[in-house]
Formats: sequence, C-alpha cells, structure tokens
Amino acid sequence: MKEHGEPVFPCEIKKTKQREEIFKILSEETMPISAVDIYHRLMQTNEKANYAISTVYRALGAFEEKGYVTKSTLITGDMAYYEWNYGAHRHYAICLQCHKLIPLKQCPFEHAKIETGSDNFTITGHKLELYGYCKECK
Ligand SMILES: [Zn+2]
Ligand SMILES: [Zn+2]
Repeated sequence: MKEHGEPVFPCEIKKTKQREEIFKILSEETMPISAVDIYHRLMQTNEKANYAISTVYRALGAFEEKGYVTKSTLITGDMAYYEWNYGAHRHYAICLQCHKLIPLKQCPFEHAKIETGSDNFTITGHKLELYGYCKECK
C-alpha cells in the first residue's frame, strides 16, 4: 500500500503535460472532485491553457482504468466524483441540501463478516453512501 501524501505519477500511464497537471490536482485534493472542478482548477492555474473538458474526462478514464482513480456517482446527482486511490477506501456522508461530503472516520464494514447467504458469491469490495443533512442545513 502506498504511503498517503506522496503519490507518484504511475509509470504505466502515458505521461502528458495535461495528465501530469490533473494528477497533481487529484493527489493534492483530499476530497472527491468532479471533472468540471478539475477543469476549472486547470484553467485557474494555467491561464494560457487551452484544455477541453473531454481531455479531462479522457485522462481520468485512463487513470481509472488502471485503478489509480476511484470514480463514484453520488445519490444527490448524476455528476461523477473522482479521487486518487491510495489503497484504502473511504466512505462519505452526503448532505442532501448543500451536497457537502463528510468523510466517515472508519468503514462500517471493516471488521464485519458479511454473509450473502450463498456460497457462490465472493465479496471483493463494497460501496456505501450515507445521506442526510449537515449541521448547517438541518
Ligand atoms: Zn448541508
Ligand atoms: Zn468500506
């Protein structure tokens, strides 16, 4: 498992300047971020940049395909969020009002042995999303 905090650009991904910049944004970001936000971030840091949003999606797809980026679609909308995969997964509570994401301190399934009631299914992972209202929106 990689140490959190110092990810390196994966050598199996073809390096381009744009991908490097997207990698930098993702590795510095501690919360899931949408492709649109990444796009705006790119435009902010590099005024002369001439990116197309499709380039961002393609780069994210390349990272995701190799498992470096986790993509999730939240219950509150159809926008996908991306985060750098540090090996340990995280769950979020999502505010239905302001769409704020609050990371859970731990995985509720971490120590649980889940039974499917069937021996022809092997669990290799899971997804969990909690939703409700944050302190400000309650
Ligand atoms: Zn809220
Ligand atoms: Zn979990």
